[in-house]
Amino acid sequence: MGSATIFVVIIMVQYYLPVGMRYASLEERKEFYTNEFDLFKVSEWLGTQTGRIKFAVIIGRHTKIYPEKYREDASTTIIVDEYKNLKDVRSQVLEFLPEAVYYDRNVYNQNDQCIGQELAFDLDPENITCPIHGTLADKMKRLQGLSFCELELEMVQKEAIGLFDFLLKRFREIKAVYSGRGFHLHVLDKEAYAFTIQQRQKLAEEVKATGIHIDDWVTAGEMRLIRLPFSLNGLVSRIVLPLTRGELKKFDTVHDPRVLPRFLNKATF
Ligand SMILES: [Zn+2]
Repeated sequence: MGSATIFVVIIMVQYYLPVGMRYASLEERKEFYTNEFDLFKVSEWLGTQTGRIKFAVIIGRHTKIYPEKYREDASTTIIVDEYKNLKDVRSQVLEFLPEAVYYDRNVYNQNDQCIGQELAFDLDPENITCPIHGTLADKMKRLQGLSFCELELEMVQKEAIGLFDFLLKRFREIKAVYSGRGFHLHVLDKEAYAFTIQQRQKLAEEVKATGIHIDDWVTAGEMRLIRLPFSLNGLVSRIVLPLTRGELKKFDTVHDPRVLPRFLNKATF
């Protein structure tokens, strides 16, 4: 045994997140949303939506980092649906300084009735069975349900490419989004917004039959919130970034400068 055992032990101890990934502090969240959050790019992303969009924030559910006055609401999903424009949304985000910002994939009409839902797929590294760290159940047993390694990120990226190609056979307008952990695939074709729950479930089954692991809750529509592109993922200090098929193929999840907020010391990457 000897050296082999020690090698595994070292990896287990270090296993938490890939190098450079860490929680963002309140000051860093403030700096990001004040100086770096690109409202123009956000509006471009949301421009494909036709109805009114609701946003949501989670202040400190996972990080336990929150402004003292929001202690009571740190783990609550707070819906932001009263705003004048995106600048106003940013002001509200700056008030809460959340670890995560989402938007609601449901599309609403003037009377707040849901008239459709953006079709999306969620691929997470913790669902990947890692040759070193095992299955999600193994990780949960060690209380590492939110942890992942670079190998898992690489594997989930391959799944995202596979899913992208699968979806291209059915749809035209597809975007991948790097969430700071895993990947989301968004289908922006008009007809996909009108899909019924049954159609979404059937599509999810077809995807899983190809061996790709996705989160059913997102595809079937029960989990309506999805991370807002260009927001900060405060669990790992990464900017959420949309990617084309070509960009996804070459994308370096850990080192790509486009996903590194300025507050990280980029010299270390
Ligand atoms: Zn792993």
